[in-house]
Amino acid sequence: MSAENVASTETSVWYADGLRFTCTRCGACCTGAPGYVWVTDEELERIAEFLGCDVREVRHRYTKRARAGRTLIEQENGDCVFYDRQGKACTIYPVRPVQCRTWPFWPGNVANPQAWAATCQICPGAGRGRLHSADEITQAAHETKMR
Ligand code: SF4
Ligand code: SF4
Repeated sequence: MSAENVASTETSVWYADGLRFTCTRCGACCTGAPGYVWVTDEELERIAEFLGCDVREVRHRYTKRARAGRTLIEQENGDCVFYDRQGKACTIYPVRPVQCRTWPFWPGNVANPQAWAATCQICPGAGRGRLHSADEITQAAHETKMR
């Protein structure tokens, strides 16, 4: 079944009326405790093209191998290597990995109302702002799960 079909056949999800989210650019999900931001070869190619450098250089300078694949490295303060604290922005925003693009609609975050409420506690943009449709949310969750 394609991702498109998965999204369009989800009719009984608890978030059928959609969920609100608009990023406040607080930076919490790009900073703080160490974590994993998984990147595929295709994403690395897009990042390299965006930065105007060789994909091998991007792989070497900005990523490392981890248990389940390749992940972005962090700055000394724990911020993602691509986070600009002064500008409060992702420096590769248009080509950021799918994990970043689909937040906060990750499967675990939208599994039930309790999980979503917990997500709203850690992400100030979740639960307010633009209303995302159920299909959009399911599509994002599915895209994340397929990684
Ligand atoms: S935690 Fe939420 S509001 Fe803050 S930068 Fe991340 S997505 Fe945006
Ligand atoms: S790639 Fe960009 S959006 Fe993703 S964690 Fe790093 S700074 Fe944040």
